[in-house]
Amino acid sequence: MEKKFRIDFNESNVLESVTYTLVSEFDLKPNVLRADIGGDGHGFMLVSIVGEKENMVKGMTHLRDLGYGVRELSGHIFHDYDRCWNCGACVSLCPTRSIYYTEDDEIKLNTDTCIACGSCINACSVKAIQLEL
Ligand code: SF4
Ligand code: SF4
Repeated sequence: MEKKFRIDFNESNVLESVTYTLVSEFDLKPNVLRADIGGDGHGFMLVSIVGEKENMVKGMTHLRDLGYGVRELSGHIFHDYDRCWNCGACVSLCPTRSIYYTEDDEIKLNTDTCIACGSCINACSVKAIQLEL
């Protein structure tokens, strides 16, 4: 099976190797879609993971026990085109380029490639992007 997760870390666990642990201890195949870390040591990674369901559960439980924030990415993103004023603040935040400018300079959402990571939501001052579970 394949699942996508957002994994948050802080200054106390940032040095742990998440992907190495998932591969070596739980026989999982992680693919990091995006990772970001701030100067204060806090950061996150968006990761797609392939493996057996049981190993997936054990691996995520292990990360939570180590102090990581782990959230499965599920649901889907709704883009309210009536609210959106094409400011573009959300575009650069998308790890999969699912929200983009068209040739007519309009913002569009590709729901086929969106992984519902939520990175774009807080960027929108008019709440034109919502996560529906
Ligand atoms: S939730 Fe937003 S940022 Fe994340 S993949 Fe979908 S469109 Fe891109
Ligand atoms: S941040 Fe909101 S208003 Fe701006 S382009 Fe994205 S969806 Fe539209």
